[in-house]
Amino acid sequence: MKHGEKENTQSLAVYEHSMDSTHIAALATILGDESRVLTQPQVVRRLSRDFYWYSPVLRKQLDGKVAEVAVQPLTAAEIQGTLRFCHAHDLPVTVRGAGAGNYGQAVPRQGGVVLDLARMDKIEAIQPDGVAVCEPGVRIGVLENEARQVGWELRCYPSTIIKASVGGFLAGGSGGVGSVAHGGLRDFGTVRAMEIVTMEAVPRIVRHEGEAVHDILHAWGTNGVITRIWLALTPAVDWSQCSVAFDTFDAAFDFSERIATAESWTKRLVTTFEWPIPSFFAPVKQCVLEGKALVFFMIASSQLVALETEARAAGGIITFSGVYPGLRAIPLLSDYTWNHTTLWALKSDPTYTYLQTGFNPETVRDQFLKLKQRFGDEILFHIEFMKNSTGRVLPGAIPVVYYVSEKRLNEMIDYCWEIGVSVANPHVNNVEGGGRYRPDNVQLLAKQRYDPKGLLNPGKMVTFRSEPRHQPTAEETAPTR
Ligand SMILES: Cc1cc2nc3c(=O)[nH]c(=O)nc-3n(C[C@H](O)[C@H](O)[C@H](O)COP(=O)(O)OP(=O)(O)OC[C@H]3O[C@@H](n4cnc5c(N)ncnc54)[C@H](O)[C@@H]3O)c2cc1C
Repeated sequence: MKHGEKENTQSLAVYEHSMDSTHIAALATILGDESRVLTQPQVVRRLSRDFYWYSPVLRKQLDGKVAEVAVQPLTAAEIQGTLRFCHAHDLPVTVRGAGAGNYGQAVPRQGGVVLDLARMDKIEAIQPDGVAVCEPGVRIGVLENEARQVGWELRCYPSTIIKASVGGFLAGGSGGVGSVAHGGLRDFGTVRAMEIVTMEAVPRIVRHEGEAVHDILHAWGTNGVITRIWLALTPAVDWSQCSVAFDTFDAAFDFSERIATAESWTKRLVTTFEWPIPSFFAPVKQCVLEGKALVFFMIASSQLVALETEARAAGGIITFSGVYPGLRAIPLLSDYTWNHTTLWALKSDPTYTYLQTGFNPETVRDQFLKLKQRFGDEILFHIEFMKNSTGRVLPGAIPVVYYVSEKRLNEMIDYCWEIGVSVANPHVNNVEGGGRYRPDNVQLLAKQRYDPKGLLNPGKMVTFRSEPRHQPTAEETAPTR
């Protein structure tokens, strides 16, 4: 075992370091601005958190994990300088966008530096070919608004659009509103290219484009710091929002599946909720009918009347409909969809948690039945339709789960797999366990190339083993601008 390193129970490197005032001063020298090196405990604590508390399992693992300092770079060159210094001193670095992730992705497990990229928020261009070029700290909602001004819009975005950053979405997210039509971030060349800064003795800026974006996508900032992004957009549509109540979940699901899977409907969101999930949506009571299942749509305005007609014919009651004026819409129905649904459930009763599952379109009704027979109201269905990479629209789900114990939660996960329901487990704090790890290991191979010491977000890629240490040279340890 090398100096400065000890083994934890998973044989992963744990960095023994403690930062002192000389490290802080050196970081301020690198940035040339001490106001962007933050040490106030409450600020560092806030910048060390995300929404991991959604999971009672992660709460036990991550409560109290904090960085020692937060650094706010403005340029890729400042990131290179910061990483060079941290590499030389074996200091862990955890990148942060807006901290809206919900698996503890941005929580520094081993202290060190939080690299807060919120101030790298320039949109460089919305190109005429519909590709946005931007820095990682741009808020996704700002990009959507800018794109719509010139006739484009995002292909997909998380329900945290107002708060979350583009870089954090690429590194930590997967899809969301729009995915019913355009798939997730991994699909259809949506992420055209990225530049990343590596964690090496002399950090480089490396460009990944085409297939090579998958080396970095959804790797939780464990194998490079994304500093520049090329994101493909889609022509903007005039959208409307609509909510429809049905007597039963089965009727709601049948109708929503029909709209989601038919190419003829231009839609951005199709979300189906089993009762009592709608009862959690206190601010949009006007959309909710006691005891009834609910479907939320974003549909092309030109098809709104036709959708309402079809919904009534299927036994639905229109509880709300209106033109969507953009993200300031009241109500903003997407605020109740994707992982926001879980948030409303938690507000209603903190015992709730969630799963992320994929149903088989051929046997989905049978899968619903089996889960209900086994777990009753411990599982409440919340369905999000999503196009896969072959162009097929599938019933994904983020079911709300009444938490009894970790054992019971694992039983539910095992049973899901047993009946052919796939699970991207949101109760684990590593890339591999979260369900979107690439079986071809390209993310791990990139980590071996770009972060050989394993200092980027350590502990979050568990298949990684760090290389043997060497004593840093004087040149490596000197602070540079
Ligand atoms: C209420 C709620 C709803 C959500 N809905 C969705 C949804 O619909 N779809 C979805 O996909 N996700 C969803 N999420 C998860 C999360 O909001 C999104 O993934 C979001 O895009 C994260 O962005 P962020 O800027 O907050 O990233 P952070 O939480 O700050 O970071 C996420 C991960 O990316 C890394 N990272 C951040 N920036 C960079 C960078 N520049 N370079 C390298 N690594 C980086 C971090 O280290 C971390 O591992 C939801 C979460 C909540 C709490």
